[in-house]
Amino acid sequence: MAFQAVRGTRDIFAPLSNSFTQLENVARKKAELWDFDEVRLPTFEEAGLFTRSVGETTDIVEKEMYVFNDRKGRSLALRPEGTASMVRAYVEHSFSQKEKKSKFFYIANMFRAERPQAGRYREFEQIGFEIFGDPTPYAEIDLLSLAFTIFKDFGVEKTELHVNSLGCAVCRPAYRQELMVALQKIKDTLCADCQKRLERNPFRVLDCKNCSPKIKDTVPVFKKCADCAAHEKSLLNALTASNIPHTVNRNIVRGFDYYTKTVFEFLHSGLGAQSAICSGGRYDNLVESLGGTATPAVGLAFGVDRTIEARLAEGVAQVKSASDARKPGVFLALQSQEDSIGAFAMQTATRLRQQNIAVTYSVLQDSMKSQMRQANKSNTKYCLIIGAEECQKQKFKLKDLTGDWEGELGWEELVQKVKI
Ligand code: AMP
Repeated sequence: MAFQAVRGTRDIFAPLSNSFTQLENVARKKAELWDFDEVRLPTFEEAGLFTRSVGETTDIVEKEMYVFNDRKGRSLALRPEGTASMVRAYVEHSFSQKEKKSKFFYIANMFRAERPQAGRYREFEQIGFEIFGDPTPYAEIDLLSLAFTIFKDFGVEKTELHVNSLGCAVCRPAYRQELMVALQKIKDTLCADCQKRLERNPFRVLDCKNCSPKIKDTVPVFKKCADCAAHEKSLLNALTASNIPHTVNRNIVRGFDYYTKTVFEFLHSGLGAQSAICSGGRYDNLVESLGGTATPAVGLAFGVDRTIEARLAEGVAQVKSASDARKPGVFLALQSQEDSIGAFAMQTATRLRQQNIAVTYSVLQDSMKSQMRQANKSNTKYCLIIGAEECQKQKFKLKDLTGDWEGELGWEELVQKVKI
C-alpha cells in the first residue's frame, strides 16, 4: 500500500459516521432552543494565540501542538482546542461593544499530537458552546443543563458530572505556592512526570492518575477568596435546585491556564482511561488578556468521538441513517439497458427524492439477477423494477423485499405506498 492514514487520524465510514451526524444534529437542535449562534472558525491560527491563552507550561502547548511555519516564516498552529480561537474572534469582531451577552457554538475538528490510544486521537471532533458577558453561575447552569439534554437525546445515560473551583487571580497564586511546598516534601514519591511539572504547574499533580491517590492527605485545603467561594456556593445550590446531579471533585484541574473559578468534566465509566466526554469551565480573564474589554465567559466542549464511544459502551447499536426523516426507501432495478429506460429511471429517482423518499441503486447496467441480489443486500424495503413496458405505460412495478407482496402502481399510489 502506497499510503495509509497518519497515526492518530482515522477514516470514519457508515454506520459510525451516521452517529457523528446524529450527534451534530441533536446539538444543533438544542443550540437553537438554548439560543446559541453557530460560528465557523479557522482551522489554524497564529501559534502565539494558544501559547498565550492555553498556557506555556501546559501539555498542549509544550508537546501537543502541530506548529509549522508558513512561506513567510510565520509560526502557525492547527487549533488544539476551540476556546482560544473563539475568544480571538470575539475580540477581533468587538462583540462586547455590540451586545451585553453573546452565545456561540461550533462543530470543529481539533488537532493534538498526543500519544494515540483508545479514545485518544490526534485529530478529533468537538462541539463547543461558549457564553460571553454573564458572570453569574446561571451561565454555568445554562451550559450544564444543555449538556445533559444533549446526552439524553443522543442516548448516553451513564454520565457523571464532576465540578470543582480553581479560584482566581486573587486566591490561586497563594494556594499554588502552598500546594507546591506541600508536594515538594513528598517529591520522591511522585511519578517522573509530576516531579518535572511540580514547579511549573503543581495543579497537574492533582489530576495525575498515578499520583492523585498518594497525595490525598498531603494536599492542603484551598481557602478561596470570598468572591470565588460565593460563586461556587451558589453554583452548587443552583445545580441541586435544577436537579442536575453532580459530585464535587477537587482533583479536576483541567489542562489549561485560562480557567478561573468553575471547572467541570462529564465522565463515563464505560471508557477506561480516557473517560472525560465533555469538559469545560469559566474563563473570566481570557478576553481581557487577549486584548479585549474585560468580559466574563464560560464554555464547554463535547468530545464527539468519545461521546459516541460512550453510547456504544452502553450497548446502543449504531444507526443505519443519521436522518430522522429518512423513509424506508426504494431500490431501483432496470430490466433493460436502453437509454430511454435509463433516463426514465433517473427521472423517477429524482421525483421520488423530491417526495423525501430515499432512492438507491446498484450499477444499472448489471444483469437483473445481480441487481436483485444487491437490492436484497441493501436493507431497503422496496424494489422498483423498471422496464420498457413500465416506461411506456408510466406504471411502476413494486416489490416488497421484506414480504411476498408485488404489484403494479400508478405514480400517486406508489408514493403513498413507499412513504409509509
Ligand atoms: P478539552 O479541550 O481538553 O477540554 O477536551 C474536551 C473534550 O474533548 C474532552 O472531554 C474529550 O472528550 C475530548 N478530547 C480531548 N482530547 C481528545 C483526543 N485526543 N481524542 C479524542 N477526544 C479528545
